[in-house]
Amino acid sequence: MTHTPYPSSYYAASANSAPPRPALDENKSVDVCIIGAGYTGLSTALFLLEQGFTVTVLEAARVGFGASGRNGGQIVNSYSRDIDSIEASAGPEEARLIGSMAFEGARIIRERVQRYGIACDLKDGGVFAAFTSKQMKHLESQKALWERYGHRQLELLDEQGIRQVVDCDRYVGGMLDMSGGHIHPLNLALGEAAAVESLGGVIHEHSPAIRIDRGTPAVVHTERGSVTARFVVVAGNAYLGNLVPELAAKSMPCGTQVITTEPLDESLAARLLPQDYCVEDCNYLLDYYRLSADRRLIYGGGVVYGARDPADIEAIIRPKMLKTFPQLRDVKIEYAWTGNFLLTLSRLPQVGRIGDNLYYSQGCSGHGVTYTHLAGKVLAEALRGQAERFDAFASLPHYPFPGGQSLRAPLSALGAMYYGLRDKLGI
Ligand SMILES: Cc1cc2nc3c(=O)[nH]c(=O)nc-3n(C[C@H](O)[C@H](O)[C@H](O)COP(=O)(O)OP(=O)(O)OC[C@H]3O[C@@H](n4cnc5c(N)ncnc54)[C@H](O)[C@@H]3O)c2cc1C
Repeated sequence: MTHTPYPSSYYAASANSAPPRPALDENKSVDVCIIGAGYTGLSTALFLLEQGFTVTVLEAARVGFGASGRNGGQIVNSYSRDIDSIEASAGPEEARLIGSMAFEGARIIRERVQRYGIACDLKDGGVFAAFTSKQMKHLESQKALWERYGHRQLELLDEQGIRQVVDCDRYVGGMLDMSGGHIHPLNLALGEAAAVESLGGVIHEHSPAIRIDRGTPAVVHTERGSVTARFVVVAGNAYLGNLVPELAAKSMPCGTQVITTEPLDESLAARLLPQDYCVEDCNYLLDYYRLSADRRLIYGGGVVYGARDPADIEAIIRPKMLKTFPQLRDVKIEYAWTGNFLLTLSRLPQVGRIGDNLYYSQGCSGHGVTYTHLAGKVLAEALRGQAERFDAFASLPHYPFPGGQSLRAPLSALGAMYYGLRDKLGI
């Protein structure tokens, strides 16, 4: 993948300009070598640079080439599982720490955008939309749970309330999180990369890490160079492959697809989403959507277990969009793309250290825009020797997928079909 360009997407077409970042072609030494220039790698790099570490980031393709440059752009707080499932699998102190961090990622994003002047169309406000009274009850209990951990800014919406934020009559209510919101995801990554460089960090694009010689120091090899480092942070997520075999066994890359309409007429856009909030529904296989800065509807949904690229993305996602907004039937789709996120069996992030100095964070299972920014902070704390919050995440247990690497995709698809059917039947 040495000269892999960005996949064609609305984000690639509207990306801010970025300098060329040449491939590594020397042997060098730094404090920390980071593998992957998505949000996890860039956020870790920024926190480390701010604390005086020297940092080199190796990126196989381009900054934000992976999920960070292709996602729905929704700043969704918390994790892909509720805190009650964390309470069940972690100790009380670990659950308290992880619960208290559930809304920190969004604060980090806003702080980064402001401090480094990142132009990424940041908007406040995210909505969880419920189709059934059962889903509404779940939102009510989720709100109560989050409040127990000190997060009090959430607002329940009744049927009338949700109509005021989204012009779709399928929802019975919802929950508004004004600390959520949305961004142009690739431009956020590009802005963070520029911030890394402004602090003296170096990013090499077109530089896949092909081997890690473990030890102290460790040596990370690319085709034409190497980085010797006291610490290595592995942040390749769903695009990592088998570079670190211990990680591959307990996670599975999955694809999800996004389409983007032509720019909507001003009055139509204002009717669909009058407050310009982003929305995700409460189904297990959920749909998510929002407006872009130039008033396109960006609509995502669906999961392909095992991350095969579907042949016709528009054919999969457009019917979902029309179910939500039949009023868009004559609107043209201008972009369609797919991207990979990394699923774990528990849907909780996989965080830890191998040996003394090989750190990793991956597998946020679909909701990663905020978590990855938090992960950067938590990893940087651990490298500085303050590992309390890192240890809380690292204590979450992870198991291999049933069926091993060959059967994990069909078995997970079967499980998802079951939950998808429950969503359809409203049970
Ligand atoms: C289509 C889509 C929509 C999504 N929508 C949302 C959303 O709206 N809200 C939300 O919260 N989350 C969303 N997510 C999830 C979120 O985007 C991810 O959780 C997050 O971006 C992961 O960031 P990351 O840095 O860990 O991984 P990535 O962004 O995937 O970055 C990993 C990087 O590592 C590089 N890499 C891999 N292997 C190597 C190697 N050997 N050497 C060097 N570099 C390597 C890759 O090229 C890549 O650039 C979505 C994901 C997808 C795919």
